[in-house]
Amino acid sequence: MRISITDRCNLRCRYCMPAEGIEKVPMDRILTYEEILRICRTAVGMGISRFKITGGEPLVRRGCTDLIREMKKIPGVEQITATTNGQQPLEMIAELADAGIEGLNISLDSLREDRYAFITGGGELNKTLRTIDKSISSGIRTKINCLLQKQFNEDEIQDFAAFAFEKGIEVRFIEIMPVGFGNPESGLSNDEVLEKLQERYPELEKDETTRGNGPAVYYRLPEKSGAIGLISAMNHSFCESCNRIRLTSQGLVKPCLCYEDGVDLKAALAEDSDEALRAALEEAIRIKPAGHTFHDRNTVEPKAMSQIGG
Ligand code: SAM
Ligand code: SF4
Repeated sequence: MRISITDRCNLRCRYCMPAEGIEKVPMDRILTYEEILRICRTAVGMGISRFKITGGEPLVRRGCTDLIREMKKIPGVEQITATTNGQQPLEMIAELADAGIEGLNISLDSLREDRYAFITGGGELNKTLRTIDKSISSGIRTKINCLLQKQFNEDEIQDFAAFAFEKGIEVRFIEIMPVGFGNPESGLSNDEVLEKLQERYPELEKDETTRGNGPAVYYRLPEKSGAIGLISAMNHSFCESCNRIRLTSQGLVKPCLCYEDGVDLKAALAEDSDEALRAALEEAIRIKPAGHTFHDRNTVEPKAMSQIGG
């Protein structure tokens, strides 16, 4: 289960949020940490054991590490990971490691300072690079998520691959989706990416060992640690094997990233017993659609990615 804990963000990635931001959801409509913990306990009782904390930028919400610490105490929770832009003070990474976080997915679309600042609306590349090093040295399983766009960063595919092998981590290329401000026409298909990678690394081989909970297909080099992951939401749908549900910061459970529909947990949260909550979560899983229809824009979720959690 992906849990978005905030719609706020300290960056303005062009495909995610406009420069002027998006109207913020008032704090009294954002789930409290107590409510999130209650949802987690109920979800664990249904067999959901792995959680990813997301946002907006999750690390800007005060008390985020305390939430993770409390989630780790719930019997049956197997894994807590988070996704971040890596711009927060470095001490937070040590705190997250201390809280017991298993993994961090760090978003990074360029290894060049000017491009990074441009695509993120003012982010500082060095901060994110330092976060990556700190995360690795703190023993947190570290993955990079990179969105490629034509005529912007497509010439960095091989640099990112070199970065993955040098650091011994996974860099995953994610196809841009038409959610929020994302324009798939500007994106690259992962087939094109693989071709570029094979030009530089002809010995690249498919890695059949499972590396995570998700839909990435991995490639590696013999005798080298680190890997390249391709997450091909647009061109090779993996819907058949999708095991995700998404909780927005306002308490909507989305069965699929593509559609606006979901099950609102607010009424169930107002009840004393957890029965209604469990029924609502079960309903969200029951109505999981057979697949996405990202290619028909009229059907796609109008909310921004920062309001959903990615
Ligand atoms: N702020 C955190 C971050 O950037 O990692 C967490 C939230 S962010 C919405 C989660 C992920 O969604 C990021 O890796 C971002 O690149 C990705 N994302 C945002 N808009 C997207 C789009 N239109 N298509 C594909 N991925 C998108
Ligand atoms: Fe913020 Fe993440 Fe969206 Fe970038 S992708 S604007 S860091 S929520």
